[in-house]
Amino acid sequence: MAFIGKLIAERVTDLDEVAQYGAVIPTLTTKSASEVIDHLLAINAPVPAAYQGPEADHVMVSKRHAKCALCDRPTFAGQAHASVVAKVWSSYHFAGECPEGEVQPSGIDFRASLEKYGKQYKAGDQSYISLHLADPAHADTQQADETRLKVRVRLTVGSDWVNVTDDAEYGRGKQYGSQRPGAEYVGDASDTLARMLADVPRSIAAYGEITSHCGCCSLKLEAGISVARQIGPDCWTKHYEDFSEEFIAEAEARVEAFLATAKDTDADVTA
Ligand SMILES: [Zn+2]
Ligand SMILES: [Zn+2]
Repeated sequence: MAFIGKLIAERVTDLDEVAQYGAVIPTLTTKSASEVIDHLLAINAPVPAAYQGPEADHVMVSKRHAKCALCDRPTFAGQAHASVVAKVWSSYHFAGECPEGEVQPSGIDFRASLEKYGKQYKAGDQSYISLHLADPAHADTQQADETRLKVRVRLTVGSDWVNVTDDAEYGRGKQYGSQRPGAEYVGDASDTLARMLADVPRSIAAYGEITSHCGCCSLKLEAGISVARQIGPDCWTKHYEDFSEEFIAEAEARVEAFLATAKDTDADVTA
């Protein structure tokens, strides 16, 4: 019955109707109560502010049982959000209602790095700032570059949402998670993302190494020197002051190694 009361408070805006529901509630049997619940669930509920899923094309109160994408525990009709991202529906407990307690703050916030290293661009009516990063950790056991996580981090200008997706070359990458306006990251791959955030220049370079594209501006690294630096020429100059001496020294060592080889092979050495 408390649940019916909650649904009424949430969905019925007409005061007379609220009174009618109030009069009926004490007389309800289990069967008629479930009919009332079905009826209430059929009313389009306004989305309460307690949504904690990623930025979505559509958010509504869930009409069926599912599983919470954050805590992996069951969600019940009317007591969770359902949202759709790229045609995929996911379910989320209302904020603060995951059974295992509040989702812990991740400490991950990409906004400052996006401002500093990212590139703004327009797509349709919307402006975005994006940055491409790869896991900067070189694990000796890893053989193929494909096993290193690479992501696109993208801020929607105006809405302040930050979405983190797999950096798939074609189509839309899998969404790992997001930052709600003003909030820290919630989602998968937190350990790797924290590693990237702890050393953004090295993560940009790691992305360049793997993909031969600049992590800042996403342009292809054309010249041998840029490939060796793992960052595009304009972005290298623009962010030079932000890089640590150690980072610059490592990049210059790679450039020198490249130039030494190029001298032997007459390769193109332009930047
Ligand atoms: Zn949950
Ligand atoms: Zn660039």
